[in-house]
Amino acid sequence: MKEEQTNVLQTEGITRLSRQPETERPDLKVSFEFFPPKTDAMEARFWDSIARLAPLKPRFVSVTYGAGGSTRERTLRMVSQITKDSGVPAAAHLTCVGASRAEVDEVVKGYAQAGISRIVALRGDPPEGVGHPFTPHPDGYENAADLVAGIRKLGDFDISVAAYPEKHPQSPDWDADIDNLKRKIDAGADRAITQMFFENADYWRFVERARNAGIEAPIVPGIQPIHSFKQISGFAGKCGASIPHWLAERFEGLEDDPETHALVAAAVAAEQVTELLDSGVTEFHFYTLNRSSLVLALARLLGIRP
Ligand code: FAD
Repeated sequence: MKEEQTNVLQTEGITRLSRQPETERPDLKVSFEFFPPKTDAMEARFWDSIARLAPLKPRFVSVTYGAGGSTRERTLRMVSQITKDSGVPAAAHLTCVGASRAEVDEVVKGYAQAGISRIVALRGDPPEGVGHPFTPHPDGYENAADLVAGIRKLGDFDISVAAYPEKHPQSPDWDADIDNLKRKIDAGADRAITQMFFENADYWRFVERARNAGIEAPIVPGIQPIHSFKQISGFAGKCGASIPHWLAERFEGLEDDPETHALVAAAVAAEQVTELLDSGVTEFHFYTLNRSSLVLALARLLGIRP
């Protein structure tokens, strides 16, 4: 905690620290990730969340690309409409799984025509899931680094790529994982956004490994507020993020107690982001799952207000 933010009160031998309210932090950059809604009710919540988060002036709001391109049209529609309706810059995710180079290039050109200049470039997973080997399309991009190079040839896009503080499940070792990230940055990516993680020490170790390998691009922590512990622990298991024992214990027995669950979720995420902030992190990416409340609260704690 910074000294100027701290009042030290000496009372009968007890030292108490009281945190003063954060001052506004114009140097902070936040981005918010959404997924394309499937139903009218989900779409209503999507737009409500965008409307509530837009006044925080995020660097961008991104919309994911369903496995195997299954949300291709919806991703494009949502991203185009976000910028048109809310004025917030929008980023479209893109994967190269199951598609030829020509097909992927068409999607990139479609993004450009719709005025979208930010892309989150990913390899994607095989339809069977991340545990299964990835086989590129015979005429397709081989991996995310190859995709970044392809996008760079098509225009002047702002490109983000994925990074894994606990190592990608398919990387045989840390050297292979970091080399892969370096290839993506060297191919022209502007920044890396991390997979969710719950131990900040994992993030710091990863950043150190990347810097030691000569990666200078920003490595933005991806923060996953836990709206539902059951759902998030299921996701985490599938993407190689671990759930620490202490975290599981905090949510244990709260399945039927949504109010306490929400309070614990807010406290856990607040602890994570304030610790990162106090250690000098100035860029954050929030996985919103199309909900705004926890992210709004976290932004306030960071000193970001409408
Ligand atoms: P890559 O960087 O290509 O690498 C994946 C793995 O393959 C690494 O282990 C790497 O070491 C290995 N590898 C790569 N190239 C080679 C090579 N030539 N030889 C040997 N090994 C190699 N998925 C979606 O479907 N849609 C989304 O919208 C989406 N958004 C995401 C956003 C973020 C911020 C993150 C972190 C993930 C997202 N994902 C998304 C998930 C992502 O698609 C998966 O994690 C996928 O398994 C890997 O994608 P990648 O871009 O990291 O792949």
